[in-house]
Amino acid sequence: MKRIGVLTSGGDAPGMNAAIRSVVRKGIYHGLEVYGIFHGYSGLISGNIKKLEVGSVGDIVQRGGTMLYSARCEEFKTPEGRQKGIEQLNKFGIEALVVIGGDGSFRGAEKLSESGFPTIGVPGTIDNDIPGTDFTIGFDTALNTVIDAIDKIRDTATSHDRTFIIEVMGRDAGDIALWSGLAGGAESILIPENPKEIDQVISRIEQGHARGKKHSIIVVAEGVSSAGAIAEQLKKQGNIETRVTVLGHIQRGGSPTAYDRVLASRLGGKAVELLLNGEAGKMVGIQNNRIVSHSIGDILKEKHCCDDELITLARELSI
Ligand code: ADP
Repeated sequence: MKRIGVLTSGGDAPGMNAAIRSVVRKGIYHGLEVYGIFHGYSGLISGNIKKLEVGSVGDIVQRGGTMLYSARCEEFKTPEGRQKGIEQLNKFGIEALVVIGGDGSFRGAEKLSESGFPTIGVPGTIDNDIPGTDFTIGFDTALNTVIDAIDKIRDTATSHDRTFIIEVMGRDAGDIALWSGLAGGAESILIPENPKEIDQVISRIEQGHARGKKHSIIVVAEGVSSAGAIAEQLKKQGNIETRVTVLGHIQRGGSPTAYDRVLASRLGGKAVELLLNGEAGKMVGIQNNRIVSHSIGDILKEKHCCDDELITLARELSI
């Protein structure tokens, strides 16, 4: 194998650049030529492909977003679209591909591998919703952004004796809410994996009031409900006044934390190692602080779950 490609796809995540850098430099170190495919699968279909050198990935390890840009591409879900992509890869003499993205991107990667084009997936998403890895690239950075916001909102909540509802991202997964709620000392954490009845939130606030505590923070994952809808319910059912903050896309950007940079470098490096060993159709991940790999097909059949122990602990600590 002489030539590999790398692309980023789906939602961007801080640390994707560090992963690209790792794929490019590890590849070149081992004698490969590495091509960047711009704008995800859409750029693959249109042939938006350029050779990357060692210097092409200089000064990006600390940057959020992705220098290769990302995109969503419906055409790639069709066999005809994927065939066009494979033709472009053949045209450039690219023999294998590293796809950095979330589970949607992995579905595309699996289909490429099934049709005989060697592909490796690197989990890059702030949602931490991919089975087979304890952490995805970007999760730690997003978490730290959320905690910074919670800490600031807590100052106002305490000063004004108010209840705040903070809506965080995560799509169908509750990891961002659970981890940030735990780290930020939230009084209630609402996640899709453990949808707590609204009555429990109300009784928790009332118990706090009885103890003389007049402020509280409720963290809600976007996969449960909008913060606005929860605020209405609390008003209607418990006559509780709240303030709502929807953190939105600030959670996706920013300079990656040291943890995300190191994780991305390790996972990108492992992806190249697998390709050099002739492996394909796999995703790389980190489990118990060891870099591992699994069949993408197997992983896509599994369902991501939040850590039950963490859910229990968060409940125990927010009494
Ligand atoms: P993420 O990778 O962050 O989960 P998406 O779910 O939007 O983001 O997926 C990113 C892209 O991956 C899609 O726009 C599409 O091009 C490709 N993709 C998603 N699902 C499939 C599929 N079933 N088959 C082929 N390609 C897919």
